[in-house]
Amino acid sequence: MKKIGVLALQGAVREHVQMLEELGCEAATITRTEHLVELDGLVLPGGESTAMRKLLDRYDLLEPIRVLAESGLPMFGTCAGLILLARDVVDYESHLAVMDVKVARNSYGRQVDSFEMLLDIKGIGEDIPAIFIRAPHIVSVGEQVEILATCDDKIVLARDRHMLGCSFHPELTRDTRIMDYFIKSMVD
Ligand code: GLN
Repeated sequence: MKKIGVLALQGAVREHVQMLEELGCEAATITRTEHLVELDGLVLPGGESTAMRKLLDRYDLLEPIRVLAESGLPMFGTCAGLILLARDVVDYESHLAVMDVKVARNSYGRQVDSFEMLLDIKGIGEDIPAIFIRAPHIVSVGEQVEILATCDDKIVLARDRHMLGCSFHPELTRDTRIMDYFIKSMVD
């Protein structure tokens, strides 16, 4: 059974745990460095990236997670989790800075603070529901990064080697295809 960690400092943790268990994985909530052992992958959930950063610093988790990402542990960041992974964040400091993308925060205006769309995702499927909540988008990507989905010409899902990042919240829907792709194609 694959053991997937879910960073559980803040944000949409329980939904990821449920989805991972539904897909036959063991889900381990991560709040301390001691929990970062024997993982086959790590999910960084959505929430508020600035709040998560404070907690990552407080619990000395930033550097150990960065080291794991650099050593090749598969990681999946959703929404604020994508912001944590990104090498650059427009107008803000970066956090883990391991995924070769530049992101902008809160990319959708006030009136559309949150919305739902159906996306066609390269190599994953069609009509996949995506819920955006004060979502970031990917402004630019490095050479080896594969763009998997766009929404209104904005990049909203991309893969950089063993790292997957999306602007939206797949865990808030019943559609498990993106998580299934992460587990089957990226986690050994
Ligand atoms: N707006 C949040 C941020 O900047 C991300 C929102 C989310 O994760 N739903 O961190």
